Amino acid sequence: MYLQIKDVSKTFGTFTALSGVDLSIEKNEFVSLLGPSGSGKSTLLRLIAGLEQPTTGQVLIDGQDVTALPPYQRGIAMVFQDFLLFPHMTVRENLLFPLRMLRMNRDDAEERIDWCCRILSLTALKDRFPNQLSGGQQQRVALGRGLVCRPKVLLLDEPLANLDRELRRDMEIEIRSYQIQLGIPFVYVTHNQEEALSMSDKIAVVNKGGIEDFAEKSAVYDRPKTRFIAQFVGRSNVFTGPVEAATEGKAIQWHGQRIALGQALNDSNASSASAYIKIEDTLIEAANANPSGKIAGTLRDVIFRGQYAEYLVTVDGGQEVVASSIDSATRVKPGDPVLLSWDTAKLDVFPDEVAA
Ligand code: ATP
Repeated sequence: MYLQIKDVSKTFGTFTALSGVDLSIEKNEFVSLLGPSGSGKSTLLRLIAGLEQPTTGQVLIDGQDVTALPPYQRGIAMVFQDFLLFPHMTVRENLLFPLRMLRMNRDDAEERIDWCCRILSLTALKDRFPNQLSGGQQQRVALGRGLVCRPKVLLLDEPLANLDRELRRDMEIEIRSYQIQLGIPFVYVTHNQEEALSMSDKIAVVNKGGIEDFAEKSAVYDRPKTRFIAQFVGRSNVFTGPVEAATEGKAIQWHGQRIALGQALNDSNASSASAYIKIEDTLIEAANANPSGKIAGTLRDVIFRGQYAEYLVTVDGGQEVVASSIDSATRVKPGDPVLLSWDTAKLDVFPDEVAA
């Protein structure tokens, strides 16, 4: 493993910001730390960078214990959300600055700047000042200031948060391509699941100072390991209620509806549970389809999201369910009676209470 966090904890006074964090990242991996505000993502990144000291635990880079080393001796670089470029310096001078701090000789520094500009497509912009650059170009220079030192690890703390949506999407693709070219680990902090899902190999889901899961992004998305992940990643309908057992398998009683659980909870004696189904796995049909095993309701509204639409359905009992899977031949409009269904194998089920 190239970057290892071993049983790291961090307290600020009496507040525990991180506890018992383990993370092992390989040399060519792009890892996102994904979690809500205040969960401890930035603190973890700052501990890797050496901007904070862990209360307990170790940080290893390339086999070396760097826990006691200051940031500039760790061979890491960090890119922040507020990428502060020096306004009175050209792109070239902005990139030269970190190399001067390393006391690199002039010829090597120029060579390094040329290399960095080639990778980041900045060669034609080398003599411009920051105010003569677009937002995306400025962001590339900020990345360049991290990469020009040829770090062993690049740490990025919400670097795209201030960019507009379209530019963000372009930059996501660019940042991922730089990581592949350079073959070093990128550790990317974000609370934006789309960013984490589009760029990463793996996602570490951070919640309340701990890592709830660290896995391939598809596993995090398709098979959430915890209830928190099921709520936080993707968009799901949630059915919470008492569990009833029947010969055909267990089910949740949800506002007068029976949510069949298939094989889920077979080994559990939970008396109540929550089942999550992603909205893209929730199928809506016109009410003239075969109703068996489906949930009946009334289409309340359709929200167009560009590439897909969300169908807001009020089911019998008054609850709302969102569906975004529909057969292309189906025509439904608000007010129409509809049916909802899904593949029970796609439900993520978490027990709430275990019967005594
Ligand atoms: P955000 O997405 O909002 O940046 P985050 O997940 O990065 O959130 P952190 O910045 O790591 O969260 O903060 C985790 C917790 O630790 C927060 O409750 C924060 O208030 C607290 N914290 C961070 N730094 C300090 C500090 N220097 N002193 C005291 N508390 C701190």
